[in-house]
Amino acid sequence: MDANGTQVAAAAEGRKNLVGIGRDELAAEMRALGAPSFRARQLWHWIYHRGATDFAAMTSLSKEFRARLAEAYELRRPAVSRALRSGDGTRKWLLRFADAQEVETVHIPEEDRGTLCVSSQVGCTLTCKFCHTGTQRLVRNLDAAEIVGQVMIARDALGEWPSPQDDRQLTNIVMMGMGEPLYNYDNVAKALRIVMDHEGLSISKRKITLSTSGVVPMIRRCGAELGVNLAVSLHAVTDALRDVLVPLNKKYPIAELLQACRDYPGSSNARRITFEYVMLKGVNDSPAEARELVRLLRGIPAKVNLIPFNPWPGAPYECSEPAAIKAFADIVFAAGYSSPVRTPRGQDIMAACGQLKSDSVKLRRSAMLRPAAATA
Ligand code: SAH
Ligand code: SF4
Repeated sequence: MDANGTQVAAAAEGRKNLVGIGRDELAAEMRALGAPSFRARQLWHWIYHRGATDFAAMTSLSKEFRARLAEAYELRRPAVSRALRSGDGTRKWLLRFADAQEVETVHIPEEDRGTLCVSSQVGCTLTCKFCHTGTQRLVRNLDAAEIVGQVMIARDALGEWPSPQDDRQLTNIVMMGMGEPLYNYDNVAKALRIVMDHEGLSISKRKITLSTSGVVPMIRRCGAELGVNLAVSLHAVTDALRDVLVPLNKKYPIAELLQACRDYPGSSNARRITFEYVMLKGVNDSPAEARELVRLLRGIPAKVNLIPFNPWPGAPYECSEPAAIKAFADIVFAAGYSSPVRTPRGQDIMAACGQLKSDSVKLRRSAMLRPAAATA
């Protein structure tokens, strides 16, 4: 049976998914089964260190106990409905959940690391003007299993079980896929705690970055409770413009947002806050705006990530000219901030920011154009 068939069968039989539940919850499940507490630790190891997809593979457990587990539980991953590989090595998986909703996960290999871009919601309730995700009508939160499942699917595809200590292809995680992670905080926090657990997937908080459009109260909670790196989608230096580009600004204006950044625990010159700034031609890309950005960031250990705008059909903006981006970057850099321009990756498979799950016709076309790439 395929992964989807398995999901449907398990859901019909009412088996509980053990993927996505925390350590305490897993321990409680084992207690309820009358099993000794070390069973929870063994299971955790099998699920998150070894990547087991089947109880039958858990050879350190007795056959009888494995059979009992299989009766009561399942180990469900999202189903991969499409897997694409770009000429530059970027990989993208379109994942389908039990209710047929889909999100995308992207793996971007670089020389010294590999970053997985993880989604937190189907669609997004916020409506940033330049973002394609914000135009999607269907929105729901992903649960913790669906979030951690994205990491496990990537590990499956990269062949990285048991969790390698060194030479990993998946070293970093960015919560920069579809959705606003701080509007789905509880599920994101639960999933990230599982991802960070050093007896499992073991990706440390220093290798995880959460990107937000600026949900100020939740930035504080995220810093206090998770301590992951923070990226803030700033995109404008005046409230008048940011109100238009990132409408959430009307609720949490720039001054409040920057104060939350100043207060973000653990930020230092060694551990800076990333400010994302999408380059929109004639809208936010002037030298005067670069200088104002530098003024605003004063006192915050920061780096600035300049993102060339990725156009989508019907988008109301264009990407800035390369010369304008360079001039902007130079001003920010001269003021002492690192200001890399993000190189678009995986363009042939539409894997770039704001393009995730763009209309499926285009996706089909790009898959057809690169038939050899359309494999898992
Ligand atoms: N909701 C969160 C995280 C997901 S968006 C946030 O807004 O930060 C991840 C990044 O992609 C954000 O910085 C967002 O502004 C940027 N982005 C969205 N659409 C884009 C587009 N069309 N071109 C370039 N960057 C885009
Ligand atoms: Fe949502 Fe982020 Fe897109 Fe804004 S940029 S609509 S917050 S996903």
